[in-house]
Amino acid sequence: MSIHTHDDGSDVILEARDVVKSFGPLKVLDSVSMTVQRQEVVVMIGPSGSGKTTFLRCLNHLERIDSGSVEVLGESVGYKESKGGLVEDTPRVVARRRRKIGFVFQRFNLFPHLSALENVAVAPIKVLGISKDQAREEARELLARVGLSDKEDNRPRALSGGQQQRVAIARALAMKPALMLFDEPTSALDPEMVGEVISVMGELAADGMTMVVVTHEMGFARSAADRLVMFDRGRILEQGPPESLFTNAEHERTRAFLSILGS
Ligand code: ADP
Ligand code: MG
Repeated sequence: MSIHTHDDGSDVILEARDVVKSFGPLKVLDSVSMTVQRQEVVVMIGPSGSGKTTFLRCLNHLERIDSGSVEVLGESVGYKESKGGLVEDTPRVVARRRRKIGFVFQRFNLFPHLSALENVAVAPIKVLGISKDQAREEARELLARVGLSDKEDNRPRALSGGQQQRVAIARALAMKPALMLFDEPTSALDPEMVGEVISVMGELAADGMTMVVVTHEMGFARSAADRLVMFDRGRILEQGPPESLFTNAEHERTRAFLSILGS
């Protein structure tokens, strides 16, 4: 199945420049820049607390940034230029920009009172104004794509963790994003469910979705990532094709971290 996106044909999907973010006195992102090309799959790794989640959250303006810029498809996310500097966009504009970005969290955050199908269809109906029939038909296709055709009517509590995460992926895809962000999507799962989620993500990557994925699943990095990015203390320490980092990382901290991951 081909990927449908809201995009305009440009080759740079994401451009983050010199993003700085502090929480009080703690500088969590210390000038992080990242460019992601269309259909590129970027895997981010790094120690706990190094700023990976905060960076993803800044990309769709779940966090304000202190300085720098984030553009998706050439449009600033969260801010606009004015004479005095950057001004935060209105919630309405932020919401419009954010639609281009799908976010899959560690915890699935499905609506507990809605069925799997309704979880996938609700935002296209409410936010995009698509008809109920069309949204449900698209939701059915997406659930089939993540292998859950037989679970359309189940509420989240009647689904396993791996199934819930696959519904969450379908729900994000229902908005036809140009970019998908994943924040440790398998780390809250029992080990036997990791594979089914990783395999859906691998198919998505093979279908040409542009993705930024925080994960320590190095099998996924090896098979799907174009680029592996090592975060350390709020900075990108180094990056490159996965195999070159696995075999030839420049920094001892990267080598040590990868050896802990067992890659
Ligand atoms: P990672 O995802 O790499 O583990 P995070 O981005 O979650 O790292 O966190 C980076 C640092 O920022 C940590 O020291 C964390 O405690 C701190 N941090 C994250 N969110 C907040 C917040 N809302 N308020 C204060 N400190 C935060
Ligand atoms: Mg994190």
